[in-house]
Amino acid sequence: MPEKTLVQADYILTWNENFEIISPGEIVIEDSIITYLGARQERPMENFTRIIVGEDSLVMPGLVNTHTHAAMTLFRGYADDMPLMEWLEKKIWPVEARLRKEDIYWGTLLAVCEMIKGGTTCFADMYFHMDEVARACQESGIRASLAQGLIGVDKIKGMAGLRESKSLVHNWHKKGDGRITIMLGPHAPYTCPPAYLQMVMEMAEQLSVPIHIHLAETRGEVAECLKVYGQTPVSLVNDLGLLEYNVLAAHCVHLTPGEIDLLAEKKVAVAHNPGSNLKLGSGVAPVIELLKKNALVALGTDGAASNNNLDMVEEMRLSALLQKGLSEDATAIPAHMALKMATLNGSEALFPDEEVGTLRKGSKADLIIMQLKNPHLFPLHNLLAQIVYSAGAADVDLVMVNGRVLMEKRRLLTIDEERVLFEGQKRALRLVKD
Ligand SMILES: [Zn+2]
Repeated sequence: MPEKTLVQADYILTWNENFEIISPGEIVIEDSIITYLGARQERPMENFTRIIVGEDSLVMPGLVNTHTHAAMTLFRGYADDMPLMEWLEKKIWPVEARLRKEDIYWGTLLAVCEMIKGGTTCFADMYFHMDEVARACQESGIRASLAQGLIGVDKIKGMAGLRESKSLVHNWHKKGDGRITIMLGPHAPYTCPPAYLQMVMEMAEQLSVPIHIHLAETRGEVAECLKVYGQTPVSLVNDLGLLEYNVLAAHCVHLTPGEIDLLAEKKVAVAHNPGSNLKLGSGVAPVIELLKKNALVALGTDGAASNNNLDMVEEMRLSALLQKGLSEDATAIPAHMALKMATLNGSEALFPDEEVGTLRKGSKADLIIMQLKNPHLFPLHNLLAQIVYSAGAADVDLVMVNGRVLMEKRRLLTIDEERVLFEGQKRALRLVKD
């Protein structure tokens, strides 16, 4: 007997071409797949193993965080108000060197708690000891695409990273009922020289997995790349042939008009991290121009040490407000576009071959229920505007991934939240102790 779930709500955001809203509506889910979505129907209720009635609520696709370093939650609030390179070299890299495998597991679970409680159903991670990250994802039920962070400037570490990536693909790619996939994660052109990137590309080809990389994050990175290679980071990786692969490129803040065309043409998925770029003083990515060229732009939080939260509702709002302010154009990034970047574009960036991230018949059931009966969401004129400009992460009431409920009435069902908070605090204090 398959698990059969009925979800009823006042509004269902279907997210087809016309951003259609069904009101009131219902969704039937059999195991992990949506088998009906539409107006309410007379049904024999005894056929269902679970009935979820969302009163004063909206069902929408889950949010997708396309760039983070989950276990960095352990360094949240540890080092702030510093430039990126100084922050990395003096503060982050020294404490990261002390991380043990179990720290990564608990730090990731802390991140997953936060993400689920904020309506994130799927995320892309780049870090170390990724077996532990995969274990946290498998146990918690969240969907994720994981990459071992590769640093190629140190040859021994670089080769070890490639070996670990290979075993990660072998052990975890398409595991956890298909919820977990693996990418290769060369950190950035400034930490991975061309010869090393070449090896990464060969491995991507062999194993048929995408590549997740930081690209053109700061003005300093671009200047350094020009000095060392006589090319910008985007031009360098393009000449190497890297953009011919399936690439998820984080940041892409400092781009020339030609590079914007190139990223669109090569169908590179851009993970835009407005909060992190602002906090680290890195600049603002040319999102309006990228979207004009039909580039695939999705949203991410980056790690909690540089954001300092993993709140995708906030990133969605920021992504719209920032571009409006910068361009002095209130029509830039309308609500539906911000919402699309936070949901559908993210799913397309991370799970391009799967029916994930849309609410329609045949799709995997990754959805969230937002509670609308709150003063800051009243009155209701336009649902999309309400979600992007007025809602907060705490309005997320229920989270379902792959047909399984991970949070109900804001209570996490697959994770012992108290234990995670305890372990997170204990381990974080040990790591930063002199
Ligand atoms: Zn990053």
